[in-house]
Amino acid sequence: MSGRLVVISNRLPMGDNPSGGLVVALHDALTQSGGCWIGAHPETGSDNGQFEQIESVGYKRLAFRLSDREFEQYYLGYANSVLWPLCHRRPDLVSITSDAYQCYEEVNRRVARMVASELDPDDLVWVHDYHFIPLARELRALGVENRIGMFLHIPFPVLADLSILPDPEEFADNLAHYNLIGLQTRGDVARCLEMFRDDPRAEFMTDASIKFRDRRTMVRSFPIGIDVAGFKADAEQEMEDPFGASGPDLFAIGVDRLDYSKGLPNRFRAFGRYLELRPPEMRPCLVQIAPPTRQEVRAYQDITEELQGLTGQINGRFAELDWTPIRFINRSVDRSRLARLYRQARSCLVTSLADGMNLVAKEFIAAQDPADPGVLILSRFAGVAEDMVDALLVNPYDIDDMARAIDRAFQMPLEERQERHRRCLAVVENSDVAHWSANFVHVLQTEPPTRDFVSIMQWHIAN
Ligand code: UDP
Repeated sequence: MSGRLVVISNRLPMGDNPSGGLVVALHDALTQSGGCWIGAHPETGSDNGQFEQIESVGYKRLAFRLSDREFEQYYLGYANSVLWPLCHRRPDLVSITSDAYQCYEEVNRRVARMVASELDPDDLVWVHDYHFIPLARELRALGVENRIGMFLHIPFPVLADLSILPDPEEFADNLAHYNLIGLQTRGDVARCLEMFRDDPRAEFMTDASIKFRDRRTMVRSFPIGIDVAGFKADAEQEMEDPFGASGPDLFAIGVDRLDYSKGLPNRFRAFGRYLELRPPEMRPCLVQIAPPTRQEVRAYQDITEELQGLTGQINGRFAELDWTPIRFINRSVDRSRLARLYRQARSCLVTSLADGMNLVAKEFIAAQDPADPGVLILSRFAGVAEDMVDALLVNPYDIDDMARAIDRAFQMPLEERQERHRRCLAVVENSDVAHWSANFVHVLQTEPPTRDFVSIMQWHIAN
């Protein structure tokens, strides 16, 4: 790679020791190219249009600050109360205000100005996620012609839902300013292509690129993965039992941010239904780790209350003096303890109603002992289900279907568990996060057509 890699994401890792698969993978790619990671400072404040340099070894870290108003309108408002529910097929939870939309555009414009002043002509720019969809358009308006790629970590919205946006036509236009649009799954690519197919401004070219006015873009899937070796090592390490003396003998685990897209209420209901059906001598638990997230947004407060209510009802009905069926842990657990918990669990429940990929599913598989593995119960609406077809696939809207899957997972013979695990592990190993990031950077660097000069001329003549 001749230039640097410049990564832009909403969250900027702050500490000395990067953790989390994505952060580690990008950290490695950035260190190799002496690159730069730009993102929001975790504390709000004022940046006066200047980046704050965060101490870092191997590559540069630059932070911009969101004001309190921007945090509310741009981050909680437009990004997380419009784009997030829209992409997760919850148009009923979309809450649009002109202020939030305007602020989203303004933050993108301001960050683009700051990024443009930092770029060298041969830098490769990799923008992450829905917080920055208009960033390439803003950079192009400032004359930036570097290769710019976008990776959308969340599901691509369905065409009909795009009409909910304040300016629906802008969505395709914004994306077309990227040289490469990276999405999680083949299903996401199909939805993105459907959007372009429906747009008279787009033309499909023979080299599989899309001509959109005077620009060319390419759409590809890059299913994100985890740091497989790191996770296996964490799961195998000797450490104290995370439960101490009060561990359940048989349990299923759930690990999710407390988000309405994760299908948690139906998961709890399905566990309750399973408890009605189970052989009476079995006293299994559901251990649900659910750290709170975006608690300032009403929909997140509602789901927290709903789950507390369901936990009370189910435990009230089934609990005994020495057995609490649902352990609802409303806080975050660190990665190495999670890895141990995954390994101890007989099953893992991933019941998302919509999910870009779902890394928990991959982590659970990586953490298992191949000689005595647990069983993954997986929603067919999580991106990971597109490839991980040997999990027990379930419909997260169907409580009975999930209850039967829990029963089957707890009773599954060893041989079937081993065979399913072997096949699921092959999928996890094929999508290691280091390979994922190297692949995206390679494609961005070598494949997308750059700006098409014949069409620039045609477009300018026509306009
Ligand atoms: N996670 C964690 N501690 C917790 C809960 C979750 O470290 O208490 C991690 C989990 O291991 C996974 C990530 O958060 O790496 C969640 O990623 P996923 O793709 O499953 O869902 P997202 O939160 O991105 O929607």
